[in-house]
Amino acid sequence: MKNRSLLMIPGPIEFDPAVLAALGAPTTGHLAPTFMEAFGQALERTRTLFQCAKGQPFVLAGTGTLGMDTVCANLVAPGDNALVINTGYFGDRMGTILERYGAKATHIRSAPGAHPTLADVEAALKTAAFKVMTITHVDTSTGVLTDVKGLADLGRRYGALVIVDGVCSVAGEDLNMDAWGVDAAFTASQKAVGVPPGLALLVVSSRGMEAFKTRKTPVLSYYSDWSNWLPVMEAYEARKPVYFGTPAVNLIFALNVSLGQILQEGLDARFARHIRMSRAVKAGITALGLGQVPQNEEIAAHTMTAPRYPSGVSGSDLIPAIGKAGVTLAGGLHAEIRNEYFRIGHMGAVTQGDVLATLGAIETGLAVCGYKFESGVGTAAAVKFLAAG
Ligand SMILES: *Cc1c(COP(=O)(O)O)cnc(C)c1O
Repeated sequence: MKNRSLLMIPGPIEFDPAVLAALGAPTTGHLAPTFMEAFGQALERTRTLFQCAKGQPFVLAGTGTLGMDTVCANLVAPGDNALVINTGYFGDRMGTILERYGAKATHIRSAPGAHPTLADVEAALKTAAFKVMTITHVDTSTGVLTDVKGLADLGRRYGALVIVDGVCSVAGEDLNMDAWGVDAAFTASQKAVGVPPGLALLVVSSRGMEAFKTRKTPVLSYYSDWSNWLPVMEAYEARKPVYFGTPAVNLIFALNVSLGQILQEGLDARFARHIRMSRAVKAGITALGLGQVPQNEEIAAHTMTAPRYPSGVSGSDLIPAIGKAGVTLAGGLHAEIRNEYFRIGHMGAVTQGDVLATLGAIETGLAVCGYKFESGVGTAAAVKFLAAG
């Protein structure tokens, strides 16, 4: 930790030393018994993490965007209607990918910091027969948390396959595929799953796999086609090797270590810890007099916070000043409000110490930028919240 900045962006995050050690171990062959065991176990644990008892897990070399790509490529065919519940940057990307595979994407949008209401979504669902409906669980460009349970229930009632982009949520926010009726969900290793960038993780429900198996036209991507990957995932789960493309051996060893830690902590305890860290950060931000992008606390994510710059302070001054104080934060991402806010990631192995260091660095940066506030008031609010239990 000496001589380097604390990385508090919405991915990649700070990683646990045991995970990094697995990454640095000598690489085994992809047919080695120890690797078969690690990959098989990682697939089982992925299924548990997504809370989808009969789901089909896939772990692929690539980023979260590969998760988006592979789900769209396999679940839509040219001419299908897709409803995109669009809360920002990654909803736009989802629409682009759906259209690349020939679907007609209908976006239902809201102002940055809000999300479409259930009534808006139901009205949209009535306008056509939608093959799929996509939801961004935590919109990383606004910090908005959507009501996946309510939305998935609606989507299912209207016969759509429900796809969830959980890249900024899985392993930090509760996402219960079985209980909520989600058909496909994905994430990336570098966010709350806590492994350096390079893996896409996804789980597909029985209904989703049925839709894939009964599709009438070929999947329009070679690398993303589940016909290639399903035999590989099934084989490794049976602790037998099958080759299609060389697995990312070290990343998968590291993933298995991280998933072991996640399940050891327990999903409920982990989600509660994320809520607690999030409330501490948000208490500090509010005490400093900064607003946030999400319109209210009920729709604010627990894996990240999106504070607005106070008047008179610009991001091009503040973010580097916070960096000089030892913490790396991210600027805005949503095109409409890019220069109005910044982003703090607090997911995965995040600790109280990280939260306090981050607020301290933000206060230092604000002071350097000439913002007037009572020194220490942000960290004090977080300390008070944390001390209260
Ligand atoms: C980060 C992110 C992605 C994209 O993941 P990459 O690994 O950068 O490709 C997609 N959706 C959401 C919600 C994200 O936060």
